[in-house]
Amino acid sequence: MISQIDQDIAEKISAGKRFVIASHIRPDADAVGSLLGLGLALMKAGKTVQLVLEDGAEKYDYLPGSEYVIRSPVGEADMIIVVDCSDAERVGSVLNDYGQPDLVIDHHKTNLAFGKINVVEPDQVATAAVLFDHIPAWGLSIDPDVATCLLSGIVGDTIGFRTPNVDANLLRKAASLIDLGADLNHVYNEELVLRSFSAVHYWGFGLKRIELQGELVWTSLTLADQQESGYDQGDDANLVNVLSSIREAKIALLFVEQPGNSVKVSWRTGPGLDVSEIAYRFGGGGHAAAAGADIKGSLAEVKHRVIAETLELLENSSMKNRSIIQKNFGE
Ligand code: 5GP
Ligand code: MN
Repeated sequence: MISQIDQDIAEKISAGKRFVIASHIRPDADAVGSLLGLGLALMKAGKTVQLVLEDGAEKYDYLPGSEYVIRSPVGEADMIIVVDCSDAERVGSVLNDYGQPDLVIDHHKTNLAFGKINVVEPDQVATAAVLFDHIPAWGLSIDPDVATCLLSGIVGDTIGFRTPNVDANLLRKAASLIDLGADLNHVYNEELVLRSFSAVHYWGFGLKRIELQGELVWTSLTLADQQESGYDQGDDANLVNVLSSIREAKIALLFVEQPGNSVKVSWRTGPGLDVSEIAYRFGGGGHAAAAGADIKGSLAEVKHRVIAETLELLENSSMKNRSIIQKNFGE
């Protein structure tokens, strides 16, 4: 049974000729994999598609279709689609001339439903998994290139099937994508294993100043670290995955200094805690287990505020746990 929303989307896709698809600034594997997966499926259906990422997709040149990515769209479009973004600001300014998106496809629980139609499924591990479920109902097909892009999004957002939301159903979706021609080994190595010398050198600066207080671990990466290591992507080079592997910590925090007096903050936690709300309060968003925000201020100021509030979150959650234990014990 195809839902009414899927039917509406299928009709719009069928009627449209010119498509613009965009995703978020500092794109990750799910942003790029979803953008390219949907984009290639539309191109193969004979549509004219502009694939737009304000920051480009250089790191993802191993994905089919990455050569089509442009940094700003030109001309008119019959349908504007935004993937893997919880709010309009996160797209950057590239869609400013285009009005409200016709379709938003996402899996963030903090999504503001900013499209005319919103396909937002917070229980899904990745936007690419949402697309896998819906693309056939929209009259599009998944060929080996589309399958590779979607699998890349799933591998990225689950850090290689390691997050607690990975279940048998998700593994069946991944297996279907492999059946459809996706190359898991290639995607896995490119996304999670291989990295540049400069990226690991850059990690070194962050690892040297790592701190643990109670169950919170954090560190920071500065603009000077980028210069000294030669790492020039402006992100954390996935150092946050190393921080979140530390056994003693319930929450890992990473601060990445940005040009123009702002700091990119990433939160990571395990089951039982939700860091998306705190990220949302700081103007960002994300998921219970992984969230982020761009916060104005110097590195020192932002660290001070964020560490204090995150320690408070840990304190409140351990108080809540204690009272649950006491209550259960009393009964
Ligand atoms: P990361 O820490 O890897 O940048 O992001 C973790 C999660 O939080 C991702 O799902 C990402 O989309 C979301 N996220 C990160 N930064 C922001 C932000 O500035 N705004 C919003 N709305 N979401 C963010
Ligand atoms: Mn995602």
